[in-house]
Order: sequence, then structure tokens, then C-alpha cells
Amino acid sequence: MPSAEDRARFGEDPQASFAANLADVRARIAAACARAGRDPAGVRLLPITKTVPPHILRLAYAAGMGEMGENKIQEAVGKTEALADLPIRWSIVGHLQSNKAKYLARFAVEFHALDSLKLAAELNRRLEAEGRDLDVFVQANTSSEESKFGLEPAEVADFVKRLGEFPRLRPRGLMTLAIFSQDMAKVRECFRILRRLRDETGLEHLSMGMSGDYEAAIEEGATIVRVGQSIFGARPAGSGPYWPGYIPGTG
Ligand SMILES: *Cc1c(COP(=O)(O)O)cnc(C)c1O
Repeated sequence: MPSAEDRARFGEDPQASFAANLADVRARIAAACARAGRDPAGVRLLPITKTVPPHILRLAYAAGMGEMGENKIQEAVGKTEALADLPIRWSIVGHLQSNKAKYLARFAVEFHALDSLKLAAELNRRLEAEGRDLDVFVQANTSSEESKFGLEPAEVADFVKRLGEFPRLRPRGLMTLAIFSQDMAKVRECFRILRRLRDETGLEHLSMGMSGDYEAAIEEGATIVRVGQSIFGARPAGSGPYWPGYIPGTG
């Protein structure tokens, strides 16, 4: 039985509303694919669960979410421990300091924010110790003025080549956060930059698009969209910042 606080945030029946929201997002993904002449099977929805507490994530799992993405490693570690009995596939989508690589190496199946060789080396070393491999996405800063994280576009191709030095890392694609703007032309330009970089590197995946812009991202070629608020509802005020450039009330 959800508490009053849970009901205020997630509704009377969180599991039913998550299932309905998932169906809605999937329908929008299908419509965006139709507009772009793409097969919806080529777009993966990665639910982003930051700020959603573990007991509520049990309901999300029951509503059909078998994979979950977290921004902050500390928050993810707590949730993986609380939900260790469920076979959830965990991704980390936010910036990671090298000294936290050991935590990620223990449980994550994917990391979307790789942006330094130092971190790549540390992850590789920790994964080696754990006997695990990791799918990685290289983060590019496609909105230079907004974000401190991610490689400059001009650095991406060389960086991807150097990842061959780290056998435990499997480079799968590129990731970006588009500019925070109501101007969809500017947002789409970020997605286009990432797509050009992806084509240059020969990698397969484009991890781009969030609640406010995933349909545009799909039209620009996204193969993975990272969606939180459209599934779980707005995050409580004061839960940010989860990245530089955060605007209160928007994310
Ligand atoms: C929170 C987050 C998202 C999802 O944002 P929503 O607005 O909740 O859809 C996507 N990517 C990253 C890196 C995030 O931290």
C-alpha cells in the first residue's frame, strides 16, 4: 500500500500509471519512427529512475521495466542493493569520477558517460578484477556552452580509436545531452552533430533524447532514448542538479 507521500508523487496506483505511461511513450516512439521511416524495433527505451525510491521501483519492475538507468553512482549502488532479488539490468548514464569506477564495475551492464582515458583505464582495471565486461558509450558535448562533461566533437574519433587499448570495454555508441532550450532547431542540431560523429566512428548506437526531446531525437536517428519524467512524473523540486547546466524546475 503506497504511503501518502508516494501517492502524492506517483498516484493512487503507481504500477498502473507506470504501465500506462510506458505504453504512451512506446506509442510516441512508434509514431516518431513512422514519421522518420524507421523500424520501432531499432529504438530502445531506457527508463531513467533517478530520485525514484527502491520500493517504488519494485512496482516499475512489475509494470514491465527490466532495465533501469541512474545518473549518480551512489544512488545506483543503494538501489542495486535494495533490489538485489530482482534481475534488473542497470545502466549508469551520468558523469563518473575515476575513483568511483570500482562501484560501477561491480554491477553495471552499461555506462553512457565515458569521456576520459583516465576513467577508461580505471574502469578496465576494475572490470578485469571483477571478471566482467562493460558496454560503453562515449559522451560528446554537442552544446559546448551548456555542459562541462563530454568530449569536444573534434576529439571523439581519436578517443574512440584509443578505446581498443581497454579489452574489458565494449564501445557501443555515442551519447549526448542536447542543449536545454525550447528552440527545437537548436536541440536537433545537437542530435545531428552526434549522428555525424557516430557515422565517422563507425559505432552502432546513438544514446540521445530525454522526456522533453526524445521524439525529435528519434527523427534524428536515436537508437536509445533515456526517459525518466514521462514515465515516473516530474521529479521533486530540489532533486537536481544532476548535471551542469541544470535549470531548476526543468530536470
Ligand atoms: C535524468 C536523465 C535523463 C532523463 O531525463 P528526464 O527529463 O527525466 O526524461 C536522461 N539522461 C540523463 C543523463 C539523465 O541524467
